[in-house]
Amino acid sequence: MENRCPFRVGNGYDVHAMAGGIPMWLGGVRIDDAPVGFVAHSDGDVAIHALCDAILGALALGDIGHFFPDTSDEWKGVDSKLLLKKVVEMAAAKGWKVGNADVTIALQRPKIASYVPAMRQALASCMEVAEDCVSVKATTTEKLGFVGRCEGCQVWATVCLWACGPKA
Ligand code: MG
Repeated sequence: MENRCPFRVGNGYDVHAMAGGIPMWLGGVRIDDAPVGFVAHSDGDVAIHALCDAILGALALGDIGHFFPDTSDEWKGVDSKLLLKKVVEMAAAKGWKVGNADVTIALQRPKIASYVPAMRQALASCMEVAEDCVSVKATTTEKLGFVGRCEGCQVWATVCLWACGPKA
């Protein structure tokens, strides 16, 4: 059956463990004052991974691990902004553009509020949208659970795509 709806919505979720001695990348930005980073095959940018999954979810294409497997040397240590740009290109090839995105980051510490404007700018640039189309919200979990124990970070992302071409 043909889908004529000009909008698609997707959600994404990701978790990464934290460990010392690695730089923290989050929302496309280096968090300078973090004594820990995210354990990953890539740069560990858990916010971008959730966002990629939201876009792929809207397109019903699968998940980020399918396209950028952590068993591949090609993606070892990769800047996750590159992955997001590639996913946006995949959407464009199918006739879809990002309309807006909303990202919620659960992290006990470090505090990241001061980095949010730079994250919105970086993510908007990757997705080729205006900054006011990208929301980044930060919360703690009130010291509860693995986030509260500073063992990891979890992120939820929601995107809206709109049909911009004949292939959509
Ligand atoms: Mg990930």
